[in-house]
Amino acid sequence: MTKYDYLIVGSGLYGAMFAWKATQAGKHCLVLDRRPHTGGNLYCENVEGINVHKYGPHIFHTSSNEVWDFVNSIVPFNGYINMPQANFHGEIYNLPFNMHTFHQMWGVQTAVEAQAIIEQQRAEAMEKMHSEGADEPRNLEEQALLLVGRDIYEKLINEYTQKQWGRFCSELPAFIIRRLPVRFEYNNNYFNDKYQGIPIGGYNRLIDGLLDGIEIRCGVDFLSDKAYWSSLAEKVLFTGCLDEYFDYCFGKLEYRSLRFEQQTLHQPNYQNNAIINYTSMDVPYTRIIEHKHFEMFGPQVESCPKTVITKEYPSEWREGMEPFYPINDKPNNQLYLKYKALADAQTNVLFGGRLAEYKYYDMAPIVEIVLNMQL
Ligand code: UDP
Repeated sequence: MTKYDYLIVGSGLYGAMFAWKATQAGKHCLVLDRRPHTGGNLYCENVEGINVHKYGPHIFHTSSNEVWDFVNSIVPFNGYINMPQANFHGEIYNLPFNMHTFHQMWGVQTAVEAQAIIEQQRAEAMEKMHSEGADEPRNLEEQALLLVGRDIYEKLINEYTQKQWGRFCSELPAFIIRRLPVRFEYNNNYFNDKYQGIPIGGYNRLIDGLLDGIEIRCGVDFLSDKAYWSSLAEKVLFTGCLDEYFDYCFGKLEYRSLRFEQQTLHQPNYQNNAIINYTSMDVPYTRIIEHKHFEMFGPQVESCPKTVITKEYPSEWREGMEPFYPINDKPNNQLYLKYKALADAQTNVLFGGRLAEYKYYDMAPIVEIVLNMQL
């Protein structure tokens, strides 16, 4: 006799959303997580009254009314707008690439002037590509050169991306850089979406709201006794690494991991912004996060006497580390497809999320996909 309709493995956003959706449909769920807490990489820890994003900064953004209304029905979101800056050898640039960046880079004031410079630099990249018989950008380097030209590529993309991914831009897929808007307006908003923000009180409120009333066991490793745990439910939803689920039978998929160095400082403000990217190779971390700026604005920043910062160091993933980013290059994507064929052949196991689908998902698409599932 199975006790549950669904055993949900992993309590990150995909697992928590699925648990919510299944519970709404009258299903009985058990959620397992091998970490000591729920929420996966959304997990926040309160330090000195500041919600610290323990696994890197998360900013929710969407253009979907349905998704925005839904997440706000679980916990109200604030009006935080992400406006990261880049520091290249002490030169400060605004991101994403917009008229402020172009002005800082070249002193231009109008879109026409900026477009003329970019067009000239694009033409060089285009000519090289065509001479090699390519019509479309074949990798991140070519895509970046076509979008913003060589100057911006050299100062703001090339070395940052190498640090982030541990690979040359010429070895990475083009879609990664298309995540960033290029805009001929004075507008530092990192996202083009209609809505964005942070849950007031931190992401744990979102996860706790989704999992409210649902049975949860933390500190439990499903894979250490897959047969036992699976026998408890009619169906399993697995949100961990797909290759690990199948005992790495075809070999290991590659992931990028992160190491975080967190400090509490006895001053109200450190860098006056939530995120500053360090885009040169001589600085070993990619960015510094100052967490209070996600939820405290203006006088609130000064009236909280301390601040918490995190330096983010990317690294290659090894067993025992947390995987963060799938590396969607050709060899890994091909290997993933072999595992996916095994996954598709499972009758009572569903696979979903960034790790199980080996896909660079943002949060909002996950909410949308699960909201629209028929269970
Ligand atoms: N990127 C860059 N310079 C920057 C910020 C981003 O070259 O200052 C590139 C880099 O390759 C990165 C990609 O853009 O992996 C996507 O950045 P995003 O901010 O979306 O990454 P995430 O927030 O998921 O870490």
